Amino acid sequence: MSRLPEWLLKKAPKIPQLRQLRTLLQDSSLNTVCEEAKCPNLGECFAQKTCTFMILGDICTRSCAFCGVKKGSPKAIDPNEPAAIAAAVKKLGLAYTVITSVTRDDLPDGGADHFAAVIKAVSHISQVEVLIPDFLEHLEVVLAAKPFTLNHNVETVPRLYPTIRPQASYTRSLALISRAKNSGQVVYTKSGFMVGLGESRAEIETVLQDLKAAGCDLVTIGQYLPPSRAHLPPVRFVPPEEFEQYRDFGLALGLQDVFAGPFVRSSYHAARILK
Ligand code: SF4
Repeated sequence: MSRLPEWLLKKAPKIPQLRQLRTLLQDSSLNTVCEEAKCPNLGECFAQKTCTFMILGDICTRSCAFCGVKKGSPKAIDPNEPAAIAAAVKKLGLAYTVITSVTRDDLPDGGADHFAAVIKAVSHISQVEVLIPDFLEHLEVVLAAKPFTLNHNVETVPRLYPTIRPQASYTRSLALISRAKNSGQVVYTKSGFMVGLGESRAEIETVLQDLKAAGCDLVTIGQYLPPSRAHLPPVRFVPPEEFEQYRDFGLALGLQDVFAGPFVRSSYHAARILK
């Protein structure tokens, strides 16, 4: 399955606009998941001067089959990162900022303290959405810093976890969302998953039901596209009208928003929640 259907063809990004944001990121020694995970929306998002900051380094301790971020032994945390992100957010004039990280199973707190420091540094300038790993035991540290949106992706249907997300647990991810919702410390809870990995319609609908039951407010659903030829190939390209059906199904369940489409990613047009 290598030829892309017409709904997955994107125009090449305009280079000068990309360069501007890239220069700012390089000068500030900041990472983005946009670049590290080779997001197909990079051109569009960077041209609109928006990005998703990736903290805690650029090397992940897990080896999920779908992800393009480098794997291995991470380096020490940069203590200047919270201030550097705050400065970049100010420069870009972002009203809504999405911050994610690599998974740091090597750290005793999974990086929760550092997340809290970044939220505190940025939240007086911009609303903050954090897209966090599954450090359930340290979730309270992040919640105490009061992010606007707490996002944690379930990524795929539970049956596919052993191949797609082998070091994670579906029930643990749902528990994390549930605990965030019940804390009353965040305005929104959010999650997302990919389709096109071999899941069935019934399995997708069950995930939407599970997310609603866990207290999730917002859901994103997008087409899985491999970041390189070495990654798992997609099983299927889901047509745009099927995404619409999942959106309708989720809204009928009472989810506040279901953003579903071939190019939807967890942080794609995330600021739309402010409108
Ligand atoms: S969709 Fe998210 S990860 Fe992709 S380029 Fe846009 S901001 Fe970055």
